[in-house]
Amino acid sequence: MRTVERPEPKGRNHYIIVTLDSCRYDSFLAAKPEFTRYLGDVERRWSYASWTAPSHYNLLMGLLPHKNPTHVYASEYYKEDFLRYNERLGAQGIEFRNMIPDMFLPTFLQRTMGYYTAALVSLPVLNPRTVINKDFDRYDLMNKHNDMRAMVEQMIFPDDRPSFYLLNVGETHYPYATPDEDPKDWPKISGVHGIFKHFDEQHAGGPLAESPETKLTFFDDNKLHQLRNRQIHAVQYLDEVIKQLFDIVPKNTYITITADHGELFGENGFFGHGPISHEKVFEVPFIEGKIR
Ligand SMILES: [Zn+2]
Repeated sequence: MRTVERPEPKGRNHYIIVTLDSCRYDSFLAAKPEFTRYLGDVERRWSYASWTAPSHYNLLMGLLPHKNPTHVYASEYYKEDFLRYNERLGAQGIEFRNMIPDMFLPTFLQRTMGYYTAALVSLPVLNPRTVINKDFDRYDLMNKHNDMRAMVEQMIFPDDRPSFYLLNVGETHYPYATPDEDPKDWPKISGVHGIFKHFDEQHAGGPLAESPETKLTFFDDNKLHQLRNRQIHAVQYLDEVIKQLFDIVPKNTYITITADHGELFGENGFFGHGPISHEKVFEVPFIEGKIR
């Protein structure tokens, strides 16, 4: 652990945020994952952003996907939402103003609440050189983009203080592949592979081409249907891994499972996420509760 001065722990709970990258709300429901039984009811919420980097920055400010409330000032909603951290952390007296001036949850947890802070991420746009790697004791981009089990196996919980983990999970991201699947069987879109070693987020979104010459490089309806089924299957696979997570966490662990944004499977001519403004790219599942 990096040597950082921090106070005696002020929270009773370990806290874990899991982002199922790109997981649509309706894919999550269709998968009928069992872990929902342990954490509570699945809520339909809304991401603040349509792709990975801004969405994770937003949630690391402490603002998780919102409820799309009407007749409320944004500042009042932020304040109200932040009070939820008292329950999540098993603490008292936490308010939005405690986040000022850094406005960053890892900073607040490490420097004010005395937590060990760690992030294990799957998507290269969140790699350790990016600005969101701030005030984490550990921050790692995983070797594979789609192996949550490897994250669970690497998690440690120091005895002397509570831990905070961000787990960015890639199985639900295009190409919706479980780690045992041979990459040569993955569905391919022209232009998506190659910029980063694994994936280029920005090319994984955007409208489908309309012209007949370029349309060939995108998916037809059949393929889009298959892709949606692959995402549902990825959630079903993750159900087992999340149960494994529930088994290894210490007593007093609170877990939030959500998505950083949704995904488009052909609606209005869109595929993926990113430069898209569509209800389904903002609609995300949200479920949280104390597991032990
Ligand atoms: Zn994402």
